[in-house]
Amino acid sequence: AKEDGRNGFRFFRPNMNRAAEERLVLEAWLRKALEKEELTLYYQPIIEPKTGHIAGAEALIRWLHPEKGLIPPDKFIPLAEETGLIVSIGQWVIETACQALKELHASGFDDLYIAVNVSPQQIWSQTLVDVVKNALVQYDVPKGSLVIEVTESVCMAETETTLTALKAMSDLGVRLAVDDFGTGFSSLNYLKRYPFNILKIDRAFISDLPESNDDAALVNAMLAMGHSLGLSIVAEGVETEEHVAFLEERDCDLLQGYYFNPPMEKEKFLKLKDYT
Ligand code: C2E
Ligand code: CA
Ligand code: CA
Ligand code: CA
Repeated sequence: AKEDGRNGFRFFRPNMNRAAEERLVLEAWLRKALEKEELTLYYQPIIEPKTGHIAGAEALIRWLHPEKGLIPPDKFIPLAEETGLIVSIGQWVIETACQALKELHASGFDDLYIAVNVSPQQIWSQTLVDVVKNALVQYDVPKGSLVIEVTESVCMAETETTLTALKAMSDLGVRLAVDDFGTGFSSLNYLKRYPFNILKIDRAFISDLPESNDDAALVNAMLAMGHSLGLSIVAEGVETEEHVAFLEERDCDLLQGYYFNPPMEKEKFLKLKDYT
């Protein structure tokens, strides 16, 4: 096969190289996506179960590719993290979310918070605190209404850099959330070392409620622990009335999930009403 030109060439390029080529193409596209304004933020409501009030929104990135359509974050955030592109993408996310916050506050969502996801590479890049500080000033963001979500794993590595960055943001009036709580290596130590305000219970613990006795026990424990540490608790992946009932009964502070709304464009979010 080696001799027959193109085909032979292909013969010696197994599928793994195809994957590598596709990655290169994707990376080049992703670089352009930022400039061409193909990235967009969707917003998913976060609801206070007792009142039905929309207390917050999580900003979730989407890539609107002209040919491929809507590309979810799981398909490009890992690549953005590996290539370092996440630093500029992350800056765009923070600025866009703060701008949206100003608009939403002016349109009746006057006490809404917006939560933004931040990758470890952004924290380690050392530019994060300045990016946040500038966005807070530029868009006149009230204290507490920007939330930065970081996953547990961030707190386990590079602790000094992480601690310094999180404390600096906390001092700026940004609230901090532990995302995907319970899925990492939960050395619970970090919860008291870092200035967290919010704990987000991962949807893996919610989906089999109320039937799963194990998950029920774990969620009960997370609520008790989080509350005794003074944290506000958000349950992710709330999909059914039973989930809502279980969590409301146990005083879970906030709920997020398809039961209420999927993530949506800002224009659609602007038309939402509280669930009262
Ligand atoms: P995450 O931070 O855990 O975000 C929650 C994910 O759960 C979102 O997926 C959301 O659409 C989905 N979700 C919401 N409600 C439900 C539900 O009731 N059931 C189920 N099964 N899923 C639900 P999405 O938007 O695809 O985002 C996936 C992940 O991508 C996020 O997970 C986050 O880790 C990452 N990501 C999203 N936006 C950004 C960003 O701007 N920057 C960074 N660094 N990462 C981001
Ligand atoms: Ca999140
Ligand atoms: Ca999460
Ligand atoms: Ca996640």
